Amino acid sequence: DSFDSMGLQENLLRGIYACGFEKPSAIQQRGIVPFIKGLDVIQQAQSGTGKTATFCSGILQQLDYGLVECQALVLAPTRVLAQQIEKVMRALGEFLGVKVHACVGGTSVREDKHILLSGVHVVVGTVGRVFDMLKRRSLRPDYIKMFVLDDADELLSCGFKDQIYDIFQLLPSKVQVGLSSVTMPPKGLEITRKFMNKPVRILV
Ligand code: AMP
Repeated sequence: DSFDSMGLQENLLRGIYACGFEKPSAIQQRGIVPFIKGLDVIQQAQSGTGKTATFCSGILQQLDYGLVECQALVLAPTRVLAQQIEKVMRALGEFLGVKVHACVGGTSVREDKHILLSGVHVVVGTVGRVFDMLKRRSLRPDYIKMFVLDDADELLSCGFKDQIYDIFQLLPSKVQVGLSSVTMPPKGLEITRKFMNKPVRILV
């Protein structure tokens, strides 16, 4: 039950400890290892339990840093949450040299396109802007190998279901899927059945 025993890269561990995390939370103890093995993971727990760092660590461990292409896409229900996840990803990935961009509404589309085309490893965003960037081909899906829906119950209750399905269709078919949620509503179960492959379900 330590971060050291999870098989994480040295520079990721440095980031984790630099964030002041000494021991993995209960959800992290159970979620990080399956995710870095490439399995689809559902984390169901209250907020404040450390779900964000589970997916951020899992993504950071699996990126190919020599390939400056978007390899992981994280969707969040609000702009503020997307920007918070961006910060966590950047902090944990500080010593890995990760390039993260928050792709959210209410910001300059031109600047978004410019940053995306200049090259990032991870995009964290809200549904509308991410879909827009995918349609414009400013965000190319070809190298995306991890797709995370954070706060999936919120995402789905906000009426984004159709757009999330559309985004799924644009991603490579073998994409690894992670899903975080406080509850598991029927719409969430439908997504897991449709798009996840034998997910490991972790309930804390
Ligand atoms: P979350 O549930 O992902 O929103 O995280 C809740 C809070 O717990 C955040 O402020 C994190 O920075 C913090 N946190 C996450 N994992 C750990 C950990 N292993 N040790 C200490 N704090 C943590």
